[in-house]
Amino acid sequence: MSEINRAVKGTNDVLPENSHNWQFVEGKMLETAGLYGFSEIRVPVFEHTEVFLRSVGDTTDVVQKEMYTFDDKGGRSITLRPELTAGVIRSAIENGLVNGALPVKVCYIGGCYRYEKPQAGRLREFHQFGVECIGAAAPNADAEVIALARQVLSSIGIEKISLEINSIGCPECRKAYHAALKEYFSSKSDELCATCLDRLDRNPMRILDCKSPVCSEIAASAPVVLDYLCDDCREHFEAVKSHLTAAGIEYTVNPHIVRGLDYYTRTVFEFVSGDIGAQATVCGGGRYDGLISQMGGPAVPSLGFAMGIERLMLVLKNQGIALPEAPVPDLYIAALGEKAQLKATALCASLREDGFRVLTDICGRGLKPQMKYAGKSGAKFSLVLGDAEIETGKARLKNMQSGEEISVSLNTLSDRLLECVNAQALESLEEAVLKD
Ligand code: ATP
Ligand code: MG
Repeated sequence: MSEINRAVKGTNDVLPENSHNWQFVEGKMLETAGLYGFSEIRVPVFEHTEVFLRSVGDTTDVVQKEMYTFDDKGGRSITLRPELTAGVIRSAIENGLVNGALPVKVCYIGGCYRYEKPQAGRLREFHQFGVECIGAAAPNADAEVIALARQVLSSIGIEKISLEINSIGCPECRKAYHAALKEYFSSKSDELCATCLDRLDRNPMRILDCKSPVCSEIAASAPVVLDYLCDDCREHFEAVKSHLTAAGIEYTVNPHIVRGLDYYTRTVFEFVSGDIGAQATVCGGGRYDGLISQMGGPAVPSLGFAMGIERLMLVLKNQGIALPEAPVPDLYIAALGEKAQLKATALCASLREDGFRVLTDICGRGLKPQMKYAGKSGAKFSLVLGDAEIETGKARLKNMQSGEEISVSLNTLSDRLLECVNAQALESLEEAVLKD
């Protein structure tokens, strides 16, 4: 196949047969976020490269290997967003949101771009739902944001998923931890992969996140960050746990979670599924108290999370969770002859005004192929218009499931159709006949 007929590697189409699932999931995300006071923010798909260098951090895999960066025709360095937090924070600073009433609670849904090795649950274009809670330092903010992520998952039927939390401390207590890590990993330096050797000096915590089997085995016995927390960070973490318990949220403390991005402080968390293979993290988030000042804004403590929508869809599929069916047409109007076609156009117009889903033939087909298409479309009812129906003003409304037919007056079609669509049992259909 030539390139013109082939999507770029690592990208997916959402086809019409699936888009209602996406709409349902995204609808639940925005609705649930609304319950917690979060409003949607929409930011550009690309930003000045500097936005990501500053925020995501230049020692991360994302910045070092995964960004789609290019010069535009004006010579600016532009990057397709690998995640949305950076752009959202840029916007919150630029538009003065961070100077107004705090906390600012925003959520987003959007595409992200990372040049990664495509595999199950790992794409080059993927989508995230996420939230940012800007200007909330108290530990119940952490619990609230985690509770929101949990409720989004359960609102679409996902209960079997585990929450893992950790605290990676503040820059102050991390100094001692970095020193301990450096000492530990230096003693194993001949076994570490080349990337981790490079990380040893610049960002030893990143080694804990290395996916290579040798490095992860070494990392498993590395010093644990929880042992190095300062009093404030320890107190904060204890309070987060108490609030999670108060909200009825189960969690496990996993001291090995460090998250892939540089801007996190204190609480970090992940929702992990055992049902989708190696890319098991569906949602990751945490606190980033230093990010806003690092990006040139005021010192405003903040936190958030991002959920990968494709991985979420995989969980739904692999756990056999059924989402609501896509809506089908209420009525298919088959028409034969010019007069009938004009009547069909008029009926379609008024029925659609009334809120019905209505189809008619727009391909100039004969009756048989029209009815075949009506069957394939899944329409609940059909109706055939020919010269006789135009003359009498009456037609046969057919229940496509049962094959049962009733006579309807074209003048009152909207009322009859409403009754028939609402009728659960065929007896009600009979009643509708009597009224006609
Ligand atoms: P991973 O460890 O899987 O690489 P990450 O730490 O890079 O994840 P984040 O940057 O925290 O991920 O992004 C949040 C979420 O976005 C992830 O938990 C995941 O669900 C999703 N995600 C990240 N990268 C991809 C990708 N390449 N393809 C699909 N989903 C992704
Ligand atoms: Mg990654």
